Formats: sequence, structure tokens, C-alpha cells
Amino acid sequence: MSMSDDEQRMQNLVSLAKRRGFIFPGSEIYGGYANTWDYGPYGVQLRKNIRDAWWQRFVTGRLDVVGVETPVIMSPKVWEASGHVGGFSDPMVDCKKCKNRFRADHLLEENGGAMPTACPECRGELTEVRQFNLMFKTNVGPMDDDLASAYLRPETAQGMFTAWKNVRDAMRVRLPYGIAQIGKAFRNEITTGNFIFRTREFEQMEIEYFVHPDHADEAFEMWLLEMKSWVRDVLKLPEESVVYQEIGEGDRAHYSSRTIDVEYKYPFGQKELYGLANRSDYDLKKHQEVSGEDLTWRDPHTGEKVLPYVIEPTWGLDRTVLAVLLAHMDEDAAPTSEKDKTESRVVLRLPKNLAPVKVAVFPLQKKEDLQTKAKELISALQAYGMAVEYDESGSIGKRYRRQDEIGTPWCVTLDMDSIEDGSATIRDRDTLEQERVVISDIPKTLFEQLHSNS
Ligand code: ATP
Repeated sequence: MSMSDDEQRMQNLVSLAKRRGFIFPGSEIYGGYANTWDYGPYGVQLRKNIRDAWWQRFVTGRLDVVGVETPVIMSPKVWEASGHVGGFSDPMVDCKKCKNRFRADHLLEENGGAMPTACPECRGELTEVRQFNLMFKTNVGPMDDDLASAYLRPETAQGMFTAWKNVRDAMRVRLPYGIAQIGKAFRNEITTGNFIFRTREFEQMEIEYFVHPDHADEAFEMWLLEMKSWVRDVLKLPEESVVYQEIGEGDRAHYSSRTIDVEYKYPFGQKELYGLANRSDYDLKKHQEVSGEDLTWRDPHTGEKVLPYVIEPTWGLDRTVLAVLLAHMDEDAAPTSEKDKTESRVVLRLPKNLAPVKVAVFPLQKKEDLQTKAKELISALQAYGMAVEYDESGSIGKRYRRQDEIGTPWCVTLDMDSIEDGSATIRDRDTLEQERVVISDIPKTLFEQLHSNS
């Protein structure tokens, strides 16, 4: 069977990610461990750049949002109050023969609304539909009994709800007011896969935006615009690849009065990238009930006490990495050397501020004075906070190609004239234009271009 373009694209990405040090299969020296992935040097930097851009935009860049960091293992009471212990489960069926496990709702959908009678993989017999709790259970302390059991958090959101009271009291909060967190979440997903799209350990960037119930709808609209702007202006995902999907009443989470899924057209289908939900006062009400603490907010002007509504925009970091890589992976005909002007190249056209390496510096030859000059330039670039790479091996064409594949916006080549007149050649990843510039001007000029976000 031949591969479709979409499958081919996905395969190209997975192999580029591995070959160029973005993402590797996890525990590979032990034969791998299904659906776990290591972020390599470039992957981890790309991920950090996305995380930093998010924090800068939504926390440090705003007066109405603050950050917290709460534990992965919280009081098990949190998960009883939130409903996760009781309800955080998907209906699933197992194949008795091949032992594959499937989401019952997925099978229904694939089978036109009726439950299939046999395993789609091996035609074996399927079990009854069962509920399956997605939370990872663990033991705290030396005892291995139910009293000692706790859970790894399946979402970061509950940390903001439990911290709400302390933040409210410490920060002299006026509504609307958001609490943000970035961190790992764990779900014992039944069906994982599609590379880093669905894993059991992943990272979320979430905001719980506490708002007077009368202003919840406005806040929802505001966050929808913010999410759209993030997707368009920061990630620069093409407009046509993102769908803002209003979720109907029957399909929403039980606590939500309005939900919009932000969906990306991945090669394996249009799937959730982010979510935006109006969680009403569901969570605070529950936590108030179970903890016995007063979680209301008192308006200092009117004296009115209200239980805030919460608007929750949520961003999956790993799904962002995947969408960003897919959206910006490109192939074009580009000259890699004077001799060969027709060869094609793979290029990651990452937004410059997200690119793992900003500048690559090449001495044309392995000569000591050139190497010294290159290292000086590197120190100056690093002083501006830019991630730099040094490469002196292979032809210049090959060196460009490597940088194109990891999305480096600029390459600077130093040649013998550089020693004479202090100039060098800058080559632009996207336009392929080469410009002769004064070396000492390079750090400041590139730094400014980086922050103009063009
Ligand atoms: P899905 O329907 O795809 O399982 P969800 O609706 O359960 O997702 P949420 O509970 O809304 O997801 O989680 C918020 C965000 O966390 C998602 O929009 C997604 O970006 C990310 N996310 C959720 N589950 C996973 C996972 N297993 N792997 C990677 N990212 C995930």
C-alpha cells in the first residue's frame, strides 16, 4: 500500500525530528517504551521558547494574571472534590485476543454509530464497555495501602483552584483576575499515539481566570481573541489550518457552560490543540463544599460577596510543538552551492523568536585567525541572549542545509576578507539573500530583528 501525502508528511517530520535532535523515541537503548519521547537539544529549546513566549505574553505581559507552581501530587481530596476520582474516565473495550484496548466512543464513531462486534485489528472478541480511571495512582510513604494512595495530577487546573484562597488573600485581588501555571500532567490514556500528540505524560499551560459571574461572557470572548492572536501572531500557524469549534451541549464537559475547541488540521486528522471553557462556579463551589473554606471574593466597593466564575483557556505544550513543526516544515528548491543551484532543501520556517538556534557562525576555512574572530562574534551574540551554534566542518552548502533543517534564521560566514576589513556575510534562511555587513554591527542588528517579530 502506498503512503498518502499526509502519512508521508508525518513520517518526514518524525524522521527529521530524530535525525536533527528535536525528538527521539524514549528509552530507546532498551528497545523503546511505547509512546514516550525524549526531547533532544533542539526540541527542548523550541519547547522552552514556546513556554517563555506564553509566560511573557499572558503572565508578565499582563497586570491581571499571576503565576503559581503547585505540586504534581496533591491531597487526594482535591480529586474527590473535582470529580476526577468518580468521573475521570473514558468508556473502553478490550480485545480478548490481541489485548488491544480501544475507546468505546472512538469505535462507535468509526463504525457509524453502532458498536462493532469484533476487534478492528484482529477480528477477535471484544469485552463489554467498561469505565477506566485515567488517573495514575501512586503510594506516598512506606505503606502500600489505600490510606497512602495518591494521584499524579491529570491537569494543572486544580492547582489554581486550591491556591485561589491564598492568592486572593496575599495579592489583594480585584476581579477579573487570572492564575496561570505551566507544568506536567499525567493521564493513563487508553489510546496513545500520533507521535507526541497523545502521550501519558504531557505539559499544559493553563489559566484560570476568575471573574464576576455577570462578566463571564465578556471574559470568554476576550480569551477567545487572545487565543486566536497567540495562534496567528506568535505561532504563525496558517489561518486555514486552525478551526475554532463551538462544542454542543451534549459534548461538553459536565462542568462547562460553553466550550470552544481550538483544532489543528494535523496530517492524521483535525484534532484538539487547545480548549477554552466557561467552567462557571463549578470548581470553587465543589472545593468550598468539600474543604469547608470560604472561597468567595468580597468586592471592596460594594461589600458584595460572590463566588467567581472561571474562564479557562488551556494550551497543550506538546501539541503546540507538533503543530509548529508541521506548519513550518517546508521544502523548496534552493541553491546550496555555486555548483548546484537546483537541489531542494528541507527548511523549518519557524518564527524567529521560537527557533532553537538564532545564529550559526561559520569560518570559511579552518584557520586560526578566522576561528578566533568567529568565537569573538559568538561571545557578542551570546551576550545579547541569543542561542548560537558554531560549525567549521564540511562545505558551506552542507552547513547551511543543517541549519535550514533546524530552522536557524541566520548564518554568518567569515572569510579571509573578514580579517582584512571586519565584514562578514549574513545569509537569511527564508529569502536566501546574502548580505555583506560589518561584524561588530551584527549582534545588535539581529537582536532588534528578532524582537520586531517579523
Ligand atoms: P482529548 O479530547 O484530545 O483527549 P481533552 O479534551 O481531554 O483532549 P483537556 O482535558 O481539555 O484535553 O486538556 C487540555 C489540553 O491538554 C488539550 O487541549 C491538549 O492540548 C492537552 N492534552 C490533553 N491530553 C493530552 C495528551 N494525552 N497528550 C498530550 N496533550 C494532551
